[in-house]
Amino acid sequence: MLSGERRQDRASRTHTGAIHATGVDKTYRAARGRTVVALSDINLSVAAGEFLSIVGPSGCGKSTFLNLVAGLLPSSAGTITVGGNVVAEPSTDVGIVFQNALLLDWRTVLENIMVPIEVMGLARKEHREAALQLLEMSGLASFADSYPWQLSGGMQRRVAICRALVFNPPILLLDEPFGALDAMTRDYMNIELMRIWQQYRKTVIL
Ligand code: ADP
Ligand code: MG
Repeated sequence: MLSGERRQDRASRTHTGAIHATGVDKTYRAARGRTVVALSDINLSVAAGEFLSIVGPSGCGKSTFLNLVAGLLPSSAGTITVGGNVVAEPSTDVGIVFQNALLLDWRTVLENIMVPIEVMGLARKEHREAALQLLEMSGLASFADSYPWQLSGGMQRRVAICRALVFNPPILLLDEPFGALDAMTRDYMNIELMRIWQQYRKTVIL
């Protein structure tokens, strides 16, 4: 029964995962007073639990959009809401995986996954359990005490995904997370990602 309630809990949390962008512009100030229009009048809705892939050539504004949703950059115009709240700063509703895994070399795999917990000041003990569960789910249980440089590129990406999921955010943003991997590992990682999505029912933007 307890696990049933937990599952319910998780499912109800995903209702906070809806994303709406309305009339979003982003203009960067570049060198010598020039400006770069990265996004212009973006209108987009992502339902809670949906998996959205954004496809486009390099420089079309994919990373910019994800950074706006994550609250890491301010928009120049328009509004983005996450779970009904206007995004104004980074929030615990969003986990993000960047193009490079960005793991800390001097910390073990488990300690890397715990970084957001420390930064946000969340309960260590409870989230350590969550971190170990995620490692188990990613087939990395036996690497908890290894260092990032002892892992393959694909394994490092999986650690970065565990780190983004450890505080159980309803939304997962992935910015070309498998870009620099070889084709076979990339295929494998995409399948892994679908598995994670099916298991945890996050709202995902890739
Ligand atoms: P993508 O992720 O699709 O490759 P980006 O969102 O990184 O695209 O970039 C969109 C546009 O904004 C590009 O023309 C890029 O040069 C420009 N841009 C991105 N970041 C900055 C920045 N910090 N300052 C100025 N221009 C930027
Ligand atoms: Mg990019």
